[in-house]
Amino acid sequence: MQFPTIDTDVLVIGAGGAGLRAAIEASAQGCKVAVITKSLLGKAHTVMAEGGMAAAMGNVDDRDNWRVHFADTMRGGQYLNNWRMAELHAKEAPERVHELEAWGAVFDRTKDGRILQRNFGGHRYPRLAHVGDRTGLEMIRTLQDHGVHRGLDVYMEHTVVSLLADGGRVAGAVAYDRERGRFKVFRAKAIVIATGGLGRAFKITSNSWEYTGDGYALAYDAGAALQDMEFVQFHPTGMVWPPSVKGILVTEGVRGEGGVLRNSEGRRFMFDDIPDNYKNQTAKDEEEGWRYTQGDKSANRPPELLTRDHVARCINREVKAGRGSPHGGVYLDIAWIKAKLPGSAEHIKRKLPSMYHQFKQLANLDITTTPMEVGPTTHYTMGGIRVDGDTQMSTLPGLFAAGEAAAGLHGANRLGGNSLSDLIVFGKRAGEFAAKFAKEHGAPSIDEPQAEAAATRALAPFERGAEGENPYSVQYELQGMMQELVGIVRQESEMRQALDRLRALRARADRAGVTGHREYNSGWHTAIDLHNLLTVSEAIAMAAIERKESRGAHFRDDYPGKADEFSTFNFIVQKGSSGEMTLSRAPITPLPPELAKVIEENK
Ligand SMILES: Cc1cc2nc3c(=O)[nH]c(=O)nc-3n(C[C@H](O)[C@H](O)[C@H](O)COP(=O)(O)OP(=O)(O)OC[C@H]3O[C@@H](n4cnc5c(N)ncnc54)[C@H](O)[C@@H]3O)c2cc1C
Repeated sequence: MQFPTIDTDVLVIGAGGAGLRAAIEASAQGCKVAVITKSLLGKAHTVMAEGGMAAAMGNVDDRDNWRVHFADTMRGGQYLNNWRMAELHAKEAPERVHELEAWGAVFDRTKDGRILQRNFGGHRYPRLAHVGDRTGLEMIRTLQDHGVHRGLDVYMEHTVVSLLADGGRVAGAVAYDRERGRFKVFRAKAIVIATGGLGRAFKITSNSWEYTGDGYALAYDAGAALQDMEFVQFHPTGMVWPPSVKGILVTEGVRGEGGVLRNSEGRRFMFDDIPDNYKNQTAKDEEEGWRYTQGDKSANRPPELLTRDHVARCINREVKAGRGSPHGGVYLDIAWIKAKLPGSAEHIKRKLPSMYHQFKQLANLDITTTPMEVGPTTHYTMGGIRVDGDTQMSTLPGLFAAGEAAAGLHGANRLGGNSLSDLIVFGKRAGEFAAKFAKEHGAPSIDEPQAEAAATRALAPFERGAEGENPYSVQYELQGMMQELVGIVRQESEMRQALDRLRALRARADRAGVTGHREYNSGWHTAIDLHNLLTVSEAIAMAAIERKESRGAHFRDDYPGKADEFSTFNFIVQKGSSGEMTLSRAPITPLPPELAKVIEENK
């Protein structure tokens, strides 16, 4: 096989916020940059982001600054975060947001014309710069326009199936185009993985079809280390009805604007269970909670704005106790604010336009008059490719990662809004340091047999044809199994069962067969995705079994408490010498005294 070869300095895999920001930066550093995306430019998952991006600009509450943001992020992540990333993120996010504004992003405004910021879970002060509830769309539009003007080469509807190595460094990637099913080789001096998350490994998810964990599996197969894979975030509020839309996100912005959670008895159950480390920052009654959402600086946040892991578990508890809504969720009520706010219907439509339309069109429900039914949905991957905090380089030289594909910033649990800011802070850094690496290293050579082997593997399902396993059935069973056995509440016996089932599913995936031709063959694409989904699922289950405690997004029924012995290291997943998955522990470097002081000051 001879494949067309594209030469570039920096190859960026993924055209979401992180990928585009990385590509812009690498190009600004004078590098030739190619961007590959599975979908169309402008359609990456980032476009779905709603509530906003966190940056301590202090426009709405001048008590906010990087120190508070840093402390909030570390507390939210239960101190397993890469503290250097948390520090850089808190310090650099405001500058990155202003840069987006300078490039044309039209943010909502304060009365005196500055960027407006809203409340979100786990953030002490109003911190999320936003554009109604369509912030991701504005981010992508802005970065896309800017990137196109910089002259990026974009390969749309191309899927990378394998990374290529040259000795100890990354050398390129093999991809097929979805339109014709033909292969291309990309030779690059440095590669940035910005492929987003893995929500499609679970049955109920807010994630788009792109989220099959490709970047994690590509990096893992190439020898890079993965970190913290047990930490998968279940967002508390996804739609639960009708069944066809189950899992679609209901933004935390609803609660930021005053929405409250109630059970079937009409009780605001979030007041019943407030974790000790948030007690002195949480409203003591409903009245104080309301004042907080309306900008009263003397008030503490309502318990609906506690961290996502906690809110999701409280909802789960209510449903299990038989106090759920008719379709297995609880009620999220923003309509109640009519008792407080004249013109509330117009206010809700203005602040939450997408939510209004989403419920009207998908569930025939008017959120300005009627409570929504919501329940937890698989939303975000805190774990991912292990990177250096400053440069974003993975453990494989020349391979960088940014955005949801990378691990570290969020520790055991991500705060809402900290992803969009993560994309621009660490997208920029990944682009900058990938460019530096590319300039300092010569062009790698491509090992043709490696590229051919990758294409042969990808084409194997055609050889098996109709005799093979149906890839959709394997995917369907995998998603149901992960939801049931490695989901929001975990225990050892179930996760061990999951590992056994994964081995059986792997054997079936290896026999997957497809028919037809290569053009837009979604059965074939699904067969290729299976390897990635199975790899990340195994990594999640393995790490989750070993973390014998409950922390952040990882909740163990058999170990419901936090254990100090698990607070000093991250779990690392890597490919062993005989191809088996290995798990090890990497100690966390202790916080430097000045950052420890920042945390102490903000307790
Ligand atoms: C509904 C929803 C609302 C959200 N709201 C917010 C919010 O308000 N604030 C916030 O901070 N976060 C929010 N998040 C989370 C946030 O949107 C994501 O974490 C973030 O957008 C991820 O960006 P990314 O650049 O890492 O990846 P993405 O935007 O997902 O981009 C991934 C890119 O990689 C490409 N790709 C994947 N695999 C391959 C492959 N094999 N080959 C080639 N290309 C590939 C994809 O096509 C895509 O272009 C929300 C998430 C959801 C689902």
